[in-house]
Amino acid sequence: MKSIHSNVSVKSWALVSSKDWYDWQWQYKNRIQTVPQFARVLGMNPAILKEYTKVVRYYPLCITPFYFSLVNMADENDPIALQCFLDRREIEYSRGGVDDPLEEVRDMPVPGLIHRYPDRCVVIITNTCATYCRHCNRKRMWKKKIAGDNAAYLMQMIDYVSKTPDIREVIVSGGDPLTVDEGTLDWFLGSLRAISHIEVLRVGSRIPVTMPMRITRQLCFILHKHRPLWFNTQFNHPHEITPEAAKACEMLLEAGIPVSNQSVLLRGVNDNFETMRDLYYGLQRISVRPYYLFQCDPVKGTDHFRADMQSGIKIMEKLWRNVSGLCLPQYVFDVPGGKGKCPLYPFPDFLAKSLTTNEYFFDKKRDVN
Ligand code: SF4
Repeated sequence: MKSIHSNVSVKSWALVSSKDWYDWQWQYKNRIQTVPQFARVLGMNPAILKEYTKVVRYYPLCITPFYFSLVNMADENDPIALQCFLDRREIEYSRGGVDDPLEEVRDMPVPGLIHRYPDRCVVIITNTCATYCRHCNRKRMWKKKIAGDNAAYLMQMIDYVSKTPDIREVIVSGGDPLTVDEGTLDWFLGSLRAISHIEVLRVGSRIPVTMPMRITRQLCFILHKHRPLWFNTQFNHPHEITPEAAKACEMLLEAGIPVSNQSVLLRGVNDNFETMRDLYYGLQRISVRPYYLFQCDPVKGTDHFRADMQSGIKIMEKLWRNVSGLCLPQYVFDVPGGKGKCPLYPFPDFLAKSLTTNEYFFDKKRDVN
């Protein structure tokens, strides 16, 4: 794990004080959001700006200085850069893909609330994130205006949940719900918690990775109040397990909030055994439980990230044979059309053959009698 601030090489931030650097509001305010800003920090040739301008017309740009500082500029395939830098392939749509392959909008009884499985629902309380991940499966929403502090929008969700007794768990998602102001977040979580049939809350946030200083004592206090509350984050590469991210996860754990990880299999970023092994070992070291490894959804603008399932299964098979069970996530594919998650298991050849021939179970040579 490398410590970051002392390593900031980008000129624009070299003189920023530690106090500012570790202040999440400074990080949030100084996010890179325009193409000229992006070009400036990269010292880029203005000739290629035109291409990037086209990309942001479809998919906006947003990177915290912290996350940006993790990029190794000397590596043209840097895994952090691949996840947050603009890429013209986002608008090439070479192999198709659709904006909403999981048909989330179809399953919204009220705006922003996805009710697909009987016992739980997802509420999208904002579309803002600290950093926009170029592989995001909700990148269609980045440009849409959703105000996280729009009380009427949030009230409709609370109202629906309160009238739907089958729902026992609410997954608070986005965008990144931790970009919503603390007062609104506290009120919203408290309103859900006050509903008698709600047993569990879940928060999905990538903030521990992209802007870990946002995990403050005050925020932990708020989340703690609304337990049982589970926290799911998204580390995709060992380079993201920084001392700052580890500290953020530690603070959540100390507040009694279990932290799990949902990574995404990303071509060129983590689609090999060694990277995955190091990622899961690293997560285990910081007490974050690997929960899911998602096959990258067929979302428009993410083609270049999609590894094929066979290679994912091969990685899982190797992990299965080499690492501790506590380091193993479940590899899943969200079936397009909103048909739900499908687990993808490694299936050893010898067993596949045996199941069709019954060889393994009824092999006479194996009989002791
Ligand atoms: S933080 Fe989550 S919602 Fe936001 S861009 Fe990244 S993956 Fe998408």
